[in-house]
Amino acid sequence: MSRLTKKQKALEILTRLKRLYPEAPCSLDYETPLQLLVATMLSAQCTDERVNKVTPTLFGRFPDVNALAAADVTELEQLVRSTGFYRNKAKNILATAQMIVADFEGEVPQSMTDLLRLPGVARKTANVVLAHAFGINAGVTVDTHVKRLTNRLGLTKHDAPLKIEQDLMKLLPQPDWENWSIRLIYHGRAVCDARKPACDRCELADLCTAGSKLDKTSSKASARTKSKAAKIS
Ligand code: SF4
Repeated sequence: MSRLTKKQKALEILTRLKRLYPEAPCSLDYETPLQLLVATMLSAQCTDERVNKVTPTLFGRFPDVNALAAADVTELEQLVRSTGFYRNKAKNILATAQMIVADFEGEVPQSMTDLLRLPGVARKTANVVLAHAFGINAGVTVDTHVKRLTNRLGLTKHDAPLKIEQDLMKLLPQPDWENWSIRLIYHGRAVCDARKPACDRCELADLCTAGSKLDKTSSKASARTKSKAAKIS
């Protein structure tokens, strides 16, 4: 596999990810584009699991964009408090709902340019909303898992999400941009942990640039621990 070009490697990784994670649903709970937009805004620096605990009450209290645009910000803050950074999130969600009412006839916009006008909405959120609510692959969502795995797999040398996204857009077929992110996130959670990647049971190991180095590091660490334990005993 070492002779593969970067593009061939990316496509082989994509094939394996599809086999490993045949279903690639968004793990946020939502029923409308607005709910997905709000849930994605809440997911910044927070787990999807936690967001899914908060949104049923939030969406029940504010069932549509007009209700949300008229919300009291203090009440909104309390409802989203457990997702962290709640003051900022509440302020942005309120301002976003108000802009959707004022500038977009109450509908979540369906273009990257318009979505990026919404307060607190960056490319990551816009990519998720476009892909899952409207079936539009406008870019590749780069979250912390995608960033870590794309670097470890040797598909980018960049740290900045925008640069990583640009690299991935050149390597992957457009229809697969969003499902790549979702599947890589699954793999990050299941196997390629930030601190302890399980390279010995990773089905991408032969394609991974960092895997063998990480494996050696963890083997040496474990050998050192065993040797210390032997001396103590
Ligand atoms: S081989 Fe290791 S570092 Fe590479 S993707 Fe797999 S778990 Fe992550």
